[in-house]
Order: sequence, then C-alpha cells, then structure tokens
Amino acid sequence: MDKESGLSMEKVIVIDFGGQYNQLVARRVRECNVYCEIYSYKTDIEQIKAMKPKGIILTGGPNSCYEESSPSYSKVLFELGIPVLGLCYGAQLMMHVLGGRVEKAPVREYGKIEVTVESSSALFADVSETTVCWMSHNDYISQAAPSFSICAHTADCPVAAAECVEKKLYAIQFHPEVLHTVEGTKMIYNFVRGICGCMGTWRMDSFVEESVKHIREQVGDGKVLLALSGGVDSSVAAGLLSRAIGKQLTCVFVDHGLLRKDEGDEVEAVFGRDGDFDLNFIRVNAQERYYAKLAGVTEPERKRKIIGEEFIRVFEEEAKKIGTVDFLAQGTIYPDVVESGLGGESAVIKSHHNVGGLPDYVDFKEIIEPLRNLFKDEVRKAGLELGIPEKLVFRQPFPGPGLGIRIIGEITAEKVRIVQDADAIYREEVDRAVAVYAKEHGTMAVWKPDQYFAALTNMRSVGVMGDERTYDYAVALRAVKTVDFMTAECAEIPFAVLQTVMNRIINEVRGVNRVVYDLTSKPPGTIEFE
Ligand code: GLN
Repeated sequence: MDKESGLSMEKVIVIDFGGQYNQLVARRVRECNVYCEIYSYKTDIEQIKAMKPKGIILTGGPNSCYEESSPSYSKVLFELGIPVLGLCYGAQLMMHVLGGRVEKAPVREYGKIEVTVESSSALFADVSETTVCWMSHNDYISQAAPSFSICAHTADCPVAAAECVEKKLYAIQFHPEVLHTVEGTKMIYNFVRGICGCMGTWRMDSFVEESVKHIREQVGDGKVLLALSGGVDSSVAAGLLSRAIGKQLTCVFVDHGLLRKDEGDEVEAVFGRDGDFDLNFIRVNAQERYYAKLAGVTEPERKRKIIGEEFIRVFEEEAKKIGTVDFLAQGTIYPDVVESGLGGESAVIKSHHNVGGLPDYVDFKEIIEPLRNLFKDEVRKAGLELGIPEKLVFRQPFPGPGLGIRIIGEITAEKVRIVQDADAIYREEVDRAVAVYAKEHGTMAVWKPDQYFAALTNMRSVGVMGDERTYDYAVALRAVKTVDFMTAECAEIPFAVLQTVMNRIINEVRGVNRVVYDLTSKPPGTIEFE
C-alpha cells in the first residue's frame, strides 16, 4: 500500500544521480504501465527496501564514479535480490562498486551510435542485433565486474551493456530513455515487464478509481477549496475531487480579464451549474478590478506582480465568504515535486508552500494534492478518464499572468480584445491546417507547433486601408517547436497558412494593420514576450 496515494501496486524505483534525463526514465517506465518514483541517491537503503520495489533503476549523472567525492550507493543494493538496471553513470557505478573497472574513455561517445547487442539477453529480447542508441559519456567501463558477461558493444566501447543474470543485475552505457535510442522503450519494457516481472497495473482508469477512494477517506465530511485557473492541472484536480466528494468541493475561478477569448465561459460551461460536474462553482468576474490596477503599468515584472497579488486578494475574499475550510486543494504535479527536491519523502505533504506557491492566508487545516504523483501526460489521460472535454485537457500551456504578458506595454481592455481576437483566429487557422495536413498525408505535419499564440506589440505604424491612412498596432505571431519548453525553435508554419492568418487578422480585428512572424529561438528569446 502506497502511503501517499493510497494505491496498492507494483512499483519501480529510480535512483537519481543527477542525470538530465531522470524524469524521462520514470516516464518511460510508466509508459509500460508500471508505477515508478524517483528518489535521490542520498535516500537511505532501508527506506528503499521498505517500499518493496519490483525493480530499481540507477540514472546517469555528471560525475565520474571513481572519484572520491562522487555520488555512490551502498553495495547492499545489489544484494537484495531485486533486479537493478544501471544507466550510464548508474552502469559505471554498478561496475565500480562490484569490482569492475571504470576510467576515462580513450574515445568519448556522444550522440547516436550504432550498438551491437546479444539478442539472447533478456534485456535485448526482440531488439535488432545492431541498433542505434543515444550515448553521452566521457568515462567507460574498461572491465566488467566479475561474474558479469558483456551483452553489447560499439566500435569504441567494449562494454556497452553487461549483465549478471543470476543476480539480476544489468548495466547499460547508453540511454534507453532518450527517444533517439530507437529501441529504448523496448529495452525498458524488457526490464520492467520481463526481468522484474511487473504485470503492468498502472493505468489511469485504476488511478482515478483508487484516488477517489483515497480522497474520500482523507477528506471524510470536510470541506475542500480549490483555486481553478482553467488550466489543465487545476481542471483535472477539480474533476477528480468532484467525483470523490461532490459538493464538499468549492472551486473559485477568478476571471482576471486576461484569459484567452471565451475561455472564462468555457470553464464555466464545464464546471459551472450547467456543467457535468457535481461541485460548488464560484466565478469571480474581476476584469474591471484588474484593468484598474494595471492602468499605466508597463514594466513586465510589475505587471506580473500586480496580477499575482490581485489574484491572492480576490481568492482570499471569496475564501472568507466560505468561512473555514478543512482542505486547500492544489494541482501540483510530479515534476513540481521532483524539481523542488521533495521527491520521495512521503511526509512532505505539509511542505506544500514550497511547491505550488499558494498562500498561508486562507484558513485551512491541510493541503490536498491529488495529482502529485502524475506526469503531465498522465494528468491529461486522467482528465479524459474523468470526462473533461478534450479541448480543455489538451489546452496549450498558458502563463499565470495570462495575456497580461502577451500585451507589451500598458494593458487596457481594448488591447485585451485585440489580442484575444487575433489569437483566436491564429489558433483556429493553425489547428485547421494541422488537421488538413493529417487528413491528406495520414501523418502529423513536422511543422506542427507545440505552442502557438498571438501577442500584441506596443508598436503602431502607418498603413492604408480603404484608401484611408491608418495608424494601428502590429500583432506578432509566435509558434515554436519544443520538447521540454526549456529550449525552442521557431516552427516552420507554411507561408500560405501565415498569409491566411494575416489576412483574417487585418480584416477582422479592428485596431491592427500589420502582422509579423517571430523567428526567434529560445535561447536567446523566451517563448513568451514578457
Ligand atoms: N559522467 C559519466 C561519464 O561521463 C556518466 C555520464 C552520464 O551518465 N551521461 O561517462
């Protein structure tokens, strides 16, 4: 029984040695329908044992395992009889601890490398004999530990994988979790489903069912308050809590007047009185109040601050009307937990303030975070499972300050209208073009952006429309391809699509006489404008 989520299930533990891909490892495992959690290499072995994992994966990391100060792990880990898979640093560490040799590699390998595998190894079952894998290492295993046999190599790396079948220990020098490793998912599947013997019970329908049970136990007949933003996470949290406790849940939705076009009404249509969810829904129309506060403010950081503070104030006023609540719910998700360094300490439910950033001001006894074990894609699946409309579940990322930071310079109701209308046209046309491409080609367009929106520049320029001089704003179109939103490139939307968008915006949105396309990548640019 998992204390925190109330889910009784098979579990694989990822021990994190500081690699860039630690979250990816856990996601890949979960894609095999096996629940997985990430713990720091500093986690005590007794704690790991107590979780009774079906398997353990050691991640990559930036250090060299033969150096004194590098992260290490107790040798006992390899004697528990639990299957262990070491990846890159994890593989090197396993060899080092068990008596093999790791040293600086004569030839470093970086990028896609052809690996030759022994397909008779359980780890490589169904994997092609030569397969492209993602490598990123300066050190190498020059000699495998005693009783290990080598089961993969490359031209420059004699031990690309090694195994000790008897002790169920496996070491891989490359990164199966990275999609560039063409058959990586199969390897991870072979480990967790084959070698560890997991049945694959982690599924979103059972997650929803078990969470509902758990929330009911935790909440009893208490009252829960949730700040609903209309974003994916808080919407799914609302859906889940509603299913569990119905009207004991109150959602406060603050419409700050900086949402995308019609978004406030869409949220209300789903969660409001005529929607499909059983809960108390309070919509606060705070547009005027926000615009008043923001009048004359042009500095981006000040704008952000005002929007954030005003949100807290509005939320607080509503909370006071409700009176004391027992629980404050938050849509915290697993990456927030991992990134705040809280992963694994199951008592941390209380140190929420570090995570979601919601406040002390509301009178509540406890925080409840029903999604704190889920990755974003799992949150979306849970949302669909709960019957939340696809439109909402697959919503693009949207910053907390909303359109406030997509309007350069001062925010006014008029400018909000312009950017809302332009943005709606842009999204509609891109979505249409993507759908048409998919229908015609039977595949997704490579240019399909991961995020796309319109922003309003603070630039006005001269134009001519209907033989008359205009002096209006320029709208900037942004579209990026990105995997993790940390880096991004401009998406190559076909010119004809951009032209249609430009025509429609100029014709349909009053106050705009120029449309520009932002080519900047991140870095040096950011995805948002302010
Ligand atoms: N730091 C180790 C090396 O350079 C491991 C690298 C890794 O885990 N990606 O070989």
